[in-house]
Amino acid sequence: MKYYSTNKQAPEASLQEAVVKGLAPDKGLYMPEKIKQLPQSFFDNIEDMSFQEIAYVVADAFFGEDIEADTLKKIVYDTLNFDVPLVHVDKNIYSLELFHGPTLAFKDVGARFMARLLGYFIKKQGQKDVKVLVATSGDTGSAVANGFLGVEGIHVYVLYPKGKVSAIQECQFTTLGQNITSLEIDGTFDDCQALVKSAFMDDDLNKALNLTSANSINVARFLPQAFYYFYAYAQLKKQGKANKVVVCVPSGNFGNLTAGLIAKRMGLPIEHFIAANNANDVFFEYLETGEYNPRPSVQTLANAMDVGDPSNFARILDLYNHSHEAITNEIEGYTYRDEAIQNIVKYTYDRTGYILDPHGACGYAALEDGLRTDETGVFLETAHPTKFLDTVESILSRKVEIPAKLQAFMKGEKKSIELPVDFSAFKNFLLKEAN
Ligand SMILES: *Cc1c(COP(=O)(O)O)cnc(C)c1O
Repeated sequence: MKYYSTNKQAPEASLQEAVVKGLAPDKGLYMPEKIKQLPQSFFDNIEDMSFQEIAYVVADAFFGEDIEADTLKKIVYDTLNFDVPLVHVDKNIYSLELFHGPTLAFKDVGARFMARLLGYFIKKQGQKDVKVLVATSGDTGSAVANGFLGVEGIHVYVLYPKGKVSAIQECQFTTLGQNITSLEIDGTFDDCQALVKSAFMDDDLNKALNLTSANSINVARFLPQAFYYFYAYAQLKKQGKANKVVVCVPSGNFGNLTAGLIAKRMGLPIEHFIAANNANDVFFEYLETGEYNPRPSVQTLANAMDVGDPSNFARILDLYNHSHEAITNEIEGYTYRDEAIQNIVKYTYDRTGYILDPHGACGYAALEDGLRTDETGVFLETAHPTKFLDTVESILSRKVEIPAKLQAFMKGEKKSIELPVDFSAFKNFLLKEAN
């Protein structure tokens, strides 16, 4: 299958080129040229299939032409070695818990899939020295570092802002060792991202090193997120609740929601989607007004959604031929400030005993506000609440137990290399790594 750029100014790419390059040369995002409709027989029996079986059918529709069946199946099954349970929270509202992977956030799915696919292509090309650069405000670094841990031929550099990620998140990428190096940058997340961008544009670095990126721009990270929408539907169907399904996605860069829109295009019977925003609500504004005005992000309690210019907006526009009407027919929007997030975490816990994380809280709140009584609502619970321990404990005024899997990270020894916000220092560091 070929991949085209959303800017339509670059040649079509093979899957391998799209995955290795990440961004198209015209700075557009790659999109699959075909979105295959899955047969009715698949949906008829979906409730009897396992998550891995369902995901393989979906993966085959995108990647089957380019990867041998055995290899693709192994990549899918290895990626999804954990469950994504659908948990009833209240009334007609369910939580799709995407936090049962190794780093307890949904990004594990895309990062693990991408690591395996890139590892496969690199081996095929006989490359041994690919360097993945990733800037993180928390969750991306841990999912990417853990996804790529031990993958041959790839070294990962995680750039993170010193003192600005939670202690638990920091442990998740600084204690791994092996092919993972953490760079503690004396600046903000934006500074980290700017260093990574400058590195990709630097001729000397590109001559000396095979650089690539692992953010949600990459098709290998973004498309696999479609898998769990099908599995959520299967779990609802098993309970006879799959008649009028509405899915709500707490959104930042909008990769997760876009994967859901693609699942619907493949025939998944979802009535419509709800995009939940925090105070960074340029997408919400777009839905309301038809105008898109990106602006610098502000810090909120749901920090993984603090994005002022979501990169996957370009994919949503492309999917609907830039029609505001078509977009608002399928996507509704809601937005919540920090105070509302705090209230919903507290209120939901008091009513139901369910502990939301600040991102899932936006999703839950939007279903409370937007769902009709004859519909069934699913919100994506994108991270385990203890990844935001201080916030959640202070809202609930109680201790919350940290899962053993998360505690295990905290026992490791932190190793990082401190760098200033200075491109020439970063460049010299990378050039030394080349030798
Ligand atoms: C990354 C992230 C999001 C936002 O997902 P997008 O695909 O960028 O919209 C939401 N919640 C959590 C916990 C995340 O880590």
